[in-house]
Amino acid sequence: MVYDVIIAGGSFAGLAVATQLRGWRVLVLDRKPIGTGQTSACGTILPVLEHWHAEASVLQVHHSLFLHTTDRDIEFKSPYPWCTFDYARLCHTLLGQTGAEVCQAAVTGLTGRIVHTTAGDFEGRCLVDASGWRAALASALQPGFAHQGVMSFGLETICPYQAEGLHFWYTPAIVRHGVTWLFPRGQTSSIGIGSYRGQLNSANRWPISCASSAWRPTGWMAPISLRACVRRRPATCS
Ligand SMILES: Cc1cc2nc3c(=O)[nH]c(=O)nc-3n(C[C@H](O)[C@H](O)[C@H](O)COP(=O)(O)OP(=O)(O)OC[C@H]3O[C@@H](n4cnc5c(N)ncnc54)[C@H](O)[C@@H]3O)c2cc1C
Repeated sequence: MVYDVIIAGGSFAGLAVATQLRGWRVLVLDRKPIGTGQTSACGTILPVLEHWHAEASVLQVHHSLFLHTTDRDIEFKSPYPWCTFDYARLCHTLLGQTGAEVCQAAVTGLTGRIVHTTAGDFEGRCLVDASGWRAALASALQPGFAHQGVMSFGLETICPYQAEGLHFWYTPAIVRHGVTWLFPRGQTSSIGIGSYRGQLNSANRWPISCASSAWRPTGWMAPISLRACVRRRPATCS
């Protein structure tokens, strides 16, 4: 069977694309079950979720953002409400608005318009790479595209703490080249730490492994440098 569109990645981007393709034969490929691959603190502006009719995924509404530095606490009153939301619930709400088939499989390569995966080959007339920084399809077109030479990271976990507003700390005494944050989400809050230093590589993952042994974090490493777009077109839409 030839799909009209194959989307690699079933998170925010992939599912948003799929919602726009109702009526087409669409396949969403993701290496994880939909809604289980959260890498985000899941804070956004409320109108985004209203646009997607995903209000049921909202965990808490926020009207201020706070930046805490070594000697100041600055409150930014937002002209529009922010919110924290449940990642899995949003993903499944979006998925419910698509007519797409879903296949849990990792994209492993590309030949023309044939997508190779751990569940076999799939042919699509149009291919969409929504696999995040890993760029599964773009990397197949251009090996090394998602190079791991210069990496940053963001990690967070959930704790039983209630608060108001979205909080960021820029405190070099605690994190020299990064930020920490606290995003309240009802009865709990997600707390996170991120580095923009870009000194991690695949052989030096000490913050990840330290964190993994102490708590169950979400998030991961990601490249921090800009990269050029992939210009070749493996397939065309008609
Ligand atoms: C710690 C942290 C906190 C963040 N907090 C926020 C926030 O509060 N608000 C905000 O707006 N942004 C936040 N971000 C940024 C946000 O997470 C990303 O911008 C967003 O996830 C990008 O969405 P995406 O759909 O493009 O990619 P992703 O969410 O990364 O999804 C990619 C999908 O592709 C799948 N995939 C990857 N490789 C393959 C493969 N080979 N085959 C098949 N499937 C594959 C993955 O399983 C995943 O489901 C945060 C990022 C981090 C790291």
